[in-house]
Amino acid sequence: MFTRNLAERCREAGVRFMMDTPIEGIQAAGDRIEGISTPQGLITGDDYVLSLGSYSPIVARPLGYSLPIYPVKGYSVTFPIRDGHVPPSMSGVDENNLVAWARFGNRLRVTATAEFSGYDRTHKPEDFDAMLRVAKQLFPHGADFSEPDYWAGLRPMTPENTPIMGKSRHRNLYLNTGHGHMGWTMACGTASVVADIMAGRQPAIDITGMTLA
Ligand SMILES: Cc1cc2nc3c(=O)[nH]c(=O)nc-3n(C[C@H](O)[C@H](O)[C@H](O)COP(=O)(O)OP(=O)(O)OC[C@H]3O[C@@H](n4cnc5c(N)ncnc54)[C@H](O)[C@@H]3O)c2cc1C
Repeated sequence: MFTRNLAERCREAGVRFMMDTPIEGIQAAGDRIEGISTPQGLITGDDYVLSLGSYSPIVARPLGYSLPIYPVKGYSVTFPIRDGHVPPSMSGVDENNLVAWARFGNRLRVTATAEFSGYDRTHKPEDFDAMLRVAKQLFPHGADFSEPDYWAGLRPMTPENTPIMGKSRHRNLYLNTGHGHMGWTMACGTASVVADIMAGRQPAIDITGMTLA
């Protein structure tokens, strides 16, 4: 709901989203970015923000950047909540088992695991056994556990667990990437910081240690 409404607001403000448009490369001349190569041709703009999560280092490498971002795989499973179920009303984390949960309307989502397996996003039902066991212990009647919707994704982790923001060595390329396991939480804040930097304003927080410099 949040992302859909945010996208709608952005469209109203003039943003054009280009779905199914893979970035094949970034074209640079000297210290300026000239455009983004895609199968639909070169896309140009005044300024560019690199925000490709775990894939930022791959796309930035040909420009000479070595971004300290590494994919750390995590798993989530989502169950439908039906009449008679008693789901948790608040999100939370089981610190002993490192399992987190959140309710989304009529769905209950449980997430866990930090795994180093490169860019592999595959998963199989057994990968979810431990978190499923914990979820059933915590919320025995929380949802319909017989209808799991499995998912795995990559957290763009940095060594300090802080994102990389702001200017780059190219004067019209900015970074907003490496949000690790807290990208949803930090997205609006880091976007605001990067927007301030791009507009030449003083950001609301000190980002020393969170830049390329
Ligand atoms: C299991 C799990 C649970 C999590 N739980 C939480 C949580 O509870 N709270 C929280 O705050 N965060 C959580 N996170 C972390 C959060 O999901 C990430 O920090 C966040 O998604 C990072 O956002 P991003 O936009 O930088 O990168 P991503 O979400 O990875 O998005 C990058 C996008 O770039 C696209 N892309 C990559 N390469 C190219 C290319 N060449 N061309 C075009 N597009 C490209 C990808 O397709 C993708 O859509 C969780 C992550 C996982 C895996």
